[in-house]
Parts: sequence; structure tokens; C-alpha cells
Amino acid sequence: MNDTAYQTELSRCNRCGACKTLCPTFLTTMNESMGARGRVALLGELEEDRLPPTKKLAEKIFSCMLCGACRNLCPTGINIPEVVYQGRTRLKDSFSRGFLLKTALKYAASRMDPAFKALRLIQKTGIIPYLPEVTSEPFKNGFQVYRQKKKTGRAAIFAGCSVNYFYPGLGRALSRILYARGYEVVVFKGELCCGAPLRSAGLTVEAVSIAKRNVEHFSRVRAEAIISMCPTCTTVIRDQYPLLAGDTISNIMDINEFLVKHDIVTGLEISPAVVTYHDPCHLNYGLGITDEPRRVLRGIKGVEFAEMRGARECCGFAGSFSLHFRGLSKDIGKRKMENIIDTGADTVVTSCPGCVMQLEDLERASNTGIKIKHIVEVIDEAMGSSVK
Ligand code: SF4
Ligand code: SF4
Repeated sequence: MNDTAYQTELSRCNRCGACKTLCPTFLTTMNESMGARGRVALLGELEEDRLPPTKKLAEKIFSCMLCGACRNLCPTGINIPEVVYQGRTRLKDSFSRGFLLKTALKYAASRMDPAFKALRLIQKTGIIPYLPEVTSEPFKNGFQVYRQKKKTGRAAIFAGCSVNYFYPGLGRALSRILYARGYEVVVFKGELCCGAPLRSAGLTVEAVSIAKRNVEHFSRVRAEAIISMCPTCTTVIRDQYPLLAGDTISNIMDINEFLVKHDIVTGLEISPAVVTYHDPCHLNYGLGITDEPRRVLRGIKGVEFAEMRGARECCGFAGSFSLHFRGLSKDIGKRKMENIIDTGADTVVTSCPGCVMQLEDLERASNTGIKIKHIVEVIDEAMGSSVK
């Protein structure tokens, strides 16, 4: 969005307030300047030079979770998350608590292996106890193709940083699922961060560079689909790469889309369990995928599905938001955890490694013993017991 388009977008706001009705930061704080309408108004004032770019103003704009709940609510069609991204680019130097992460991201986004090795060392000091341990064996350690003699198809994996460095087991589980269903699986080393943390920190120039390199990298992968287990990566690639890089990874697919489209999960069974499902914001608001995971789970024999109240409400993670606004993140998450507990479920399933991270943290605090699983773990387990 160029400057003129940005100013036009901001000027279209009539202050109706429709956008704040689902805004989690507004609903939790009940503070107008912490909601969608307030943010659009503040950015309008900043653009008209009626407000200076203070630290306080930057906090309001950087406290947006970029969840997208407000995106389709605006009657005049303002794309609020996109406006917030633009605002962050202008305010990045005023957001002082983001300084360290912003500096680290500039270095790390194109050098993920050494950056996560460094994070692993820092973790040993115990100063960031809420992050899962960084693995010593990233999922994308090398280029690998799991070949089949008679193949159903050929699929590649876009791991994303969370799977690659925190939850490599999810990547291995997805490889097993695909392979068990006759797919040749391509694990293609060299992908970069999708760019979401860079955009979130206001580093647009760096995000553009990363987007272009990922598009170029994946254009060399021969596969019918490039499957992602992280809806934030998928949304950024599908929706934002065309704006940032003028191109995208056209065959990127969310795991749930792929599972349903190719009927991967027929005939599966697990030991009887009450299961509930949490909708990740970028899967729901970003990609519009809500039925597919429920169809998958309800189709597994042994699953007693219990819908939770507010399943589509945010869990409070939102990437760097959970580091910078820890108290607010916990408050939003607490409501989610209460809704999960009320279902009486043994297991809560979701489709985003970031949500898994947040739910694990919330579960540790509430000590309920409820299991937290990404949907690929459930399928992998079910295949292990019923499909050989
Ligand atoms: S993206 Fe989410 S947190 Fe940000 S203004 Fe919109 S609803 Fe609120
Ligand atoms: S819904 Fe749109 S017009 Fe209404 S307050 Fe929000 S941004 Fe402004």
C-alpha cells in the first residue's frame, strides 16, 4: 500500500465501531485506544500530524495482535490489519520495548540456524522459561526426498520456524502421514522465515526481501502441494506475498485443506477420548478454514467431539505480542483455558504451533492435565494404531 492509498484508507473511517466488536485486546481491556477503532483513529491523527509518534502511541499500535478478527467487519471495507502493518512501519523506532527483538530479527530472519542455536544457548540461562526448548535437531536439517515406488502424488513441506526449531516432531509426523498415504515427501532445506515477525516489527523492507527469496526458493520445488502446519505462514504467503513480492508460492496449502481434499484420514481410530478444538485466528479469520479440522476429528473413530464456547476466540499468543504484552496475553489466554476446561475434554486440538505453545504454557499454569495436540499429532497417532 503506497502513502496515498494508506491515507485514503484511514480517511474512510466513520468511527462506527463495528471493528471493535470482536477485537480481543479491546474486549479484554475495554480501553478504546486498545481496540481496532481506536487504532485506526490514532493512526489517522498521526498521519494528519495532529499526534506525535510517541512511545505511548506506538504501544497502542504494537499491542494489536494482528489476529484479523476485525478484518471483514468494517462497512467501508478498511483492511485494518494492513493499516496496522503500515502504521508499524512508521512507528517502529518509537516502540522501545521492541528494540531488542527488532535488532535480533534483522540479523536472524535470513540466518535461522545460527540464530536459533544462539537462542538455545540463551535458554540455558533460564531467562525465558515460557518458551519450549529449541531443538538441537531442526526438522529441515538437510535436503531429503522420501521416495515411493508407486506414488499417489508428491508433496513438499513448508515447516516455518516454530515447527523447524521448536516442534520438529510435527514435521516428522506430517512426513509419516503423507508417506503412509503413498505420497513422495520433499523436505527442502533452505526455506527462510515466512516474514511474519518482520512485518509485525515494522520491518517491511526486510520482509519484502525474505518474501522474494522464499518465492524463488520454492519455485524450484517440484510438488503438487507445499503443505504448511502454521496458518500464520500460510496466510502471509497467500495474502501478503503478492503485495510484498508481487508473487507467491502458489501451491501452498494448509494441512487441513490438504487432508480433506485428498481424503487422507478415512478409517482411522484412536483410544476413546473427549476432544475439543481451538480455532487459530489466522486459520479462521485469515484462511476461512473452520469446518475441515472438525470434519477430520469427527471422522476418527474413538473421538467424542465436544465443541467449546468461544472456540474461535484468540488464545492470546500472537507471536511477539506474547513477549511484549505478557500480562494481556495471559488474560486473553485465561478465558480460553476456562472454556477448554468447561468442555470436560481430555485433549484440546489445534492447527497452529504458536497456539500449541500458548496452550501448553496456559496448561502448565492451570495444571489440569489436559493434553495439547496439533492435528497432525492426532492423525499420526491414529495411523500408528490403525494403518500399517
Ligand atoms: S487485528 Fe485483532 S487485535 Fe488488531 S485491531 Fe484487529 S481485532 Fe483488534
Ligand atoms: S469498522 Fe471501519 S469505519 Fe467503523 S470504526 Fe472500524 S475502521 Fe472505522
